[in-house]
Amino acid sequence: MTDDDARRFMREALGASREALPACRPNPPVGCVLVRRGAIVARGFTQPPYQPHAEPHALAQLAGSLEDVSAFVTLEPCAFHQRTPSCARELIARRVGAVYVAMIDPHLRNRGRGLEMIREAGITVVTDVLAEEVQAFLGPYLWGTPGSEEPPVGW
Ligand SMILES: [Zn+2]
Repeated sequence: MTDDDARRFMREALGASREALPACRPNPPVGCVLVRRGAIVARGFTQPPYQPHAEPHALAQLAGSLEDVSAFVTLEPCAFHQRTPSCARELIARRVGAVYVAMIDPHLRNRGRGLEMIREAGITVVTDVLAEEVQAFLGPYLWGTPGSEEPPVGW
């Protein structure tokens, strides 16, 4: 995958991110696209609280082996189980081939832990894809970043 292709797919994930608003609040509006052989085969975004985050929303649209699938996610997948199961665990369980993220989740319970889990499972992780563009959109919705709103309750 070239850097240009990676940025192009992350821009699609950013588009999915925008669709999450406003129903996803207080969770951050995250977007995810799944890519196989250069084409987007599924897209997801954060559903309302207690419903799937972006990654499982997209993963649920595909059956079978995902070893040849790359996931593009605007925010680091969550490492922890709270209202919904951990998205990092879900990506590992489905055995995707690679995970591309735009930015690390500054949430106290994540902060790199989600990516660590995915790497430890032997899955390729690429960070900082289209980081500035995604940060400009997502930053204000994240707890722990300058200009953020109140901490997302229980997120
Ligand atoms: Zn999640």
